[in-house]
Amino acid sequence: MKRTGFVWSEKFAWFQLGNYAGAAPADATSVQPDQHVYDPEVVRRFRNLIDVSGLLKQLIDLPPRPATELEIGRVHTTAHLEEIKALSASSTGGYSGDHAPVPHGAFEIACLAAGGAIAAVEAVMRGDLDNAYALLRPAGHHARPDRSMGFCLLSNAAIAGRHLLEVHGVKRIAYVDWDVHHGNGTQAALYDEPRALTISLHQDRLWPIDDGFVDQIGEGAAVGTNLNIPLPAGSGVEAYCEAYDRVVIPALKAFRPEIIIVPSGFDAGAMDPMGRMMLHSEGYRRLTRKLMAVADELCGGRLVFLHEGGYSRWTVPFYGLAVMEELSEIKTGIEDPYLEYHKLLGGQELLPHQSAAIDAAAANVERVPRHT
Ligand SMILES: [Zn+2]
Repeated sequence: MKRTGFVWSEKFAWFQLGNYAGAAPADATSVQPDQHVYDPEVVRRFRNLIDVSGLLKQLIDLPPRPATELEIGRVHTTAHLEEIKALSASSTGGYSGDHAPVPHGAFEIACLAAGGAIAAVEAVMRGDLDNAYALLRPAGHHARPDRSMGFCLLSNAAIAGRHLLEVHGVKRIAYVDWDVHHGNGTQAALYDEPRALTISLHQDRLWPIDDGFVDQIGEGAAVGTNLNIPLPAGSGVEAYCEAYDRVVIPALKAFRPEIIIVPSGFDAGAMDPMGRMMLHSEGYRRLTRKLMAVADELCGGRLVFLHEGGYSRWTVPFYGLAVMEELSEIKTGIEDPYLEYHKLLGGQELLPHQSAAIDAAAANVERVPRHT
């Protein structure tokens, strides 16, 4: 059994976006008001399933604290910070960057999420915990240093990584972003940082549509430290496992990080409204086991998951439970009611065009700097 930490605050679910139907603003002409697609019930139901399963009380509660402006400033520009603060302080909130509504009070919650990411990586790096999952909201991996993007205001993962590099003297960190969208913000924040290996597996040209390509490999002293694995829409469990075996794991073994951070979106699930991939809870289990094995081999098992996207209220909690059971090595006995159906969907096997996409990404592994 592992000592697994869990970061959660009910305030994360209070980051609530307004009058929308999916990702479209409601209006008086054609769009009837409904839920915003980035629905807080997804994370609340994830946390509640962990609770009712009995697992929550076997995890180590890791309370988040707000990230400071100094910590945020290691990644974000002052102008970006001031813009979000001003929008958040206004009674109506506002709209920042690209697809990033900022409701009233959002800044405080975003700081709490970024601080939750710091608390998780810090506790695992110090050895207080073996691994951790931070169930954060708002998400972070699209937020660029100078602008909000895609429901993300602050780059939680990059802020946490910078904290390890600058405050804890960690020599090398690595990211494996399995959200269905490209981890463009984390990539942008660390593109010229030779101490950070950033890997993103995502649906090819889903969002942002002009980013996440295999030829983006880092710059300056950091050439070779960014790997994109854009997979064709419809990729299933075997394509993901193959991408781990042929790209992610060899790259990690070359770079030898001291900790692995997983920006963890569950929108590559088969029922997600925002993605067109095919993963199911057993797929997420297999990928988690692969990450745990390579973390055990390279860095004392130090593995931290930072929650990103995932938009199905129904299935995300079961993907989350599967990951939490693997990380903690505790079985709850709860079955995923969707699993059998998802396993029967066609296309879970590795298809030739998916294999070709993995080959293209694998060609960059030899450029990853080798450390001993
Ligand atoms: Zn996503």
